[in-house]
Amino acid sequence: MLTLGRATIEKVTDFDPFVLPASVLLPGHDLKAMQGEAASLEPLHVDFEADNLLLSLHSFLLRVGGLTILIDSCVGEHKHRPRRADWHDRRETGYLERLARAGVAPEDVDVVMCTHLHADHVGWNTRLENGRWVPTFPRARYLVGEAELAHWLAEESAHPGTHNHGAFTDSVEPLLEAGLVERVSEGFSLGNGLNIFSCAGHSPGQIGLDLDGGSAGRARFCGDALHSPVHVFRPEWSTAFCHAPEEAASTRRALISEAAEGGTLLLPAHLRGSMAMTITRDGGSPSGYRPEYL
Ligand SMILES: [Zn+2]
Repeated sequence: MLTLGRATIEKVTDFDPFVLPASVLLPGHDLKAMQGEAASLEPLHVDFEADNLLLSLHSFLLRVGGLTILIDSCVGEHKHRPRRADWHDRRETGYLERLARAGVAPEDVDVVMCTHLHADHVGWNTRLENGRWVPTFPRARYLVGEAELAHWLAEESAHPGTHNHGAFTDSVEPLLEAGLVERVSEGFSLGNGLNIFSCAGHSPGQIGLDLDGGSAGRARFCGDALHSPVHVFRPEWSTAFCHAPEEAASTRRALISEAAEGGTLLLPAHLRGSMAMTITRDGGSPSGYRPEYL
């Protein structure tokens, strides 16, 4: 558990490791060229021999000021994802049991924040009950970026049910129907030092959550703005899944340099091992920055 002022942060893992070949996540970039940074990347984040990136799929459980907040809801169970075998029709994953071990029942969750609406960030938004998708967290308001939702609503009307692995249909629409979605954008505040900021680029309206812990410091939940610590060394390496590669790279650069400047903790959605990293300046790194894991 990480403590920042009055806030506590825990990881609730859905599955780990999620192994992605570099040729799939970072096509056109030579991961092996990063071998000089192996001390920062191996064995948790990169398998250089197999040329794979290793990611974690987890939610952050953030508790502050009486609020129980879940950030990103991973892949989920029973979701029909035939194009990605390790996401397809998962069962008995133990995710809700791990949440229970942290002392949280589904009805205790006040807020689910979706940094963006890709299939690996919305899965546990819903669960299957008597053949219907119902909200997993029935009392929660689900925060979704306004621009993000507008993009995927347009995709849904252009390609009903088929885009984004079908995740919009089974993991977002049931929330809209239940009236649980709250559209938010930069500047939206949950009180308690929690403010939404824009992290656009990886997806059209990706949002992050900034936690200002006062004298205890600041933490930024930044979704997939940084997919891997590799991105601290190579912020220009946007992924195959980045909607606007140039914008994703400039969002990444800004996050990294601001974190270095302010001593901010960064909490990317797929970081393995540690929950968070800080950024230090290092003239020997290709970007001038280096991750330090907490
Ligand atoms: Zn992701």
